[in-house]
Amino acid sequence: MPPPKIAEVIEYDVCAACGACEAVCPIGAVTVKKAAEIRDPNDLSLYEKGAGYLVCEGCLICSRICPVVDGFIENELANVRKFFAARSKDSAGSQDGGVTSGILKTLFNKGEIDCAVGVTRNEKWEPEVVLLTSAEDVERTRGTKYTSDPVVAALREAFEKYDRIAVVGVPCQVHSAKLIRDNVSEKIVLILGLLCMESFHQEAMLGKIIPEIMKVKIEDVTKMEFTKGKFWVYTSDGEVHTVPIKDVAKYARNPCHHCCDYTSVFADISIGSVGAPDGWNSVFIRTEIGEKYFDMVLDEMEIMEDPKPGLELVGKLIDTKRKNNAEYFAEICKKFTFETGIRNEVV
Ligand SMILES: Cc1cc2nc3c(=O)[nH]c(=O)nc-3n(C[C@H](O)[C@H](O)[C@H](O)COP(=O)(O)OP(=O)(O)OC[C@H]3O[C@@H](n4cnc5c(N)ncnc54)[C@H](O)[C@@H]3O)c2cc1C
Ligand code: SF4
Ligand code: SF4
Ligand code: SF4
Repeated sequence: MPPPKIAEVIEYDVCAACGACEAVCPIGAVTVKKAAEIRDPNDLSLYEKGAGYLVCEGCLICSRICPVVDGFIENELANVRKFFAARSKDSAGSQDGGVTSGILKTLFNKGEIDCAVGVTRNEKWEPEVVLLTSAEDVERTRGTKYTSDPVVAALREAFEKYDRIAVVGVPCQVHSAKLIRDNVSEKIVLILGLLCMESFHQEAMLGKIIPEIMKVKIEDVTKMEFTKGKFWVYTSDGEVHTVPIKDVAKYARNPCHHCCDYTSVFADISIGSVGAPDGWNSVFIRTEIGEKYFDMVLDEMEIMEDPKPGLELVGKLIDTKRKNNAEYFAEICKKFTFETGIRNEVV
């Protein structure tokens, strides 16, 4: 039996740790921490209750939902139906305009979803992936954590308990959520994608960048932000600390150096800050599903048509990410025994 394709993704250190293989493996053979690991049959202590004795039964479901196996899309903006800026009427505590939390809260209040996957944090900024089941729960997840967690793995539990699930994630997570919706479970009713240039392992962000490079105590941090060429850290005493992005970007996770999706091309609705004025979100409606759900929450949003700096800046950042990463991805692709790459097609 040949190993699943994800074994090569793991071997060449390009696993995005999205968590999808853990979510779908029928026998629980995969666990995702910093990267996916297929459990060792010689070390049964690693098995969780319910997992079989023979690891990897070769069903190859994981090969169908892995974003790295699937590859990237050449033109990220080709499926954008509408682009505008928006701000939630209830945005306090959010990273930018609160559109992400605003959509989830309104859909819970209207009874349109019964679960959403999100990321919360404690006072030390240690992140935790959580299943949200009410508008009140959404409050816990406001704000960007630039650390990475296998968000999609939480769908394993969500699929057992809930029928109408919303996923929020960065492009790699959104990509696998879309592949899961197409191939494994239609319980994912809405996919909200964040824009993302890179993310960091917890030790790099919380152990190196904040305390050593920024010289800031992590407990004092109220907000982090990458914008205008700098990494900004806001503290509870009202101070703002910055360093050039180039001084910290080198500590980004390895898979982020091959990633060629900046705007979550596989999302129903993509949401970012780039392209919109400060305090607003840039919003990209990409699918009919996205259109339908955004219409349901419209009353809770302020809308700005034709925002500045708009899609021109978004396009520049898409190009920057490609320029930095596409060559590296092409090199890795040569090593794979399967076909993948950057596809010239519309999602
Ligand atoms: C790692 C990372 C890098 C980003 N880089 C860019 C960028 O380069 N350019 C840009 O325009 N925008 C970027 N964003 C998106 C931006 O920071 C905001 O998340 C986005 O504008 C939505 O703002 P909001 O006010 O609607 O979010 P809020 O209402 O504050 O909601 C935040 C949502 O993000 C989710 N979330 C927080 N951290 C994570 C995480 N680590 N993984 C998955 N989900 C998470 C929460 O669960 C919550 O649903 C990035 C986000 C992340 C997580
Ligand atoms: S091939 Fe099937 S059994 Fe093996 S790790 Fe992938 S999903 Fe699990
Ligand atoms: S599905 Fe996600 S976690 Fe699993 S191997 Fe692929 S990138 Fe890694
Ligand atoms: S750059 Fe963002 S989307 Fe790409 S692998 Fe890293 S965290 Fe995932």
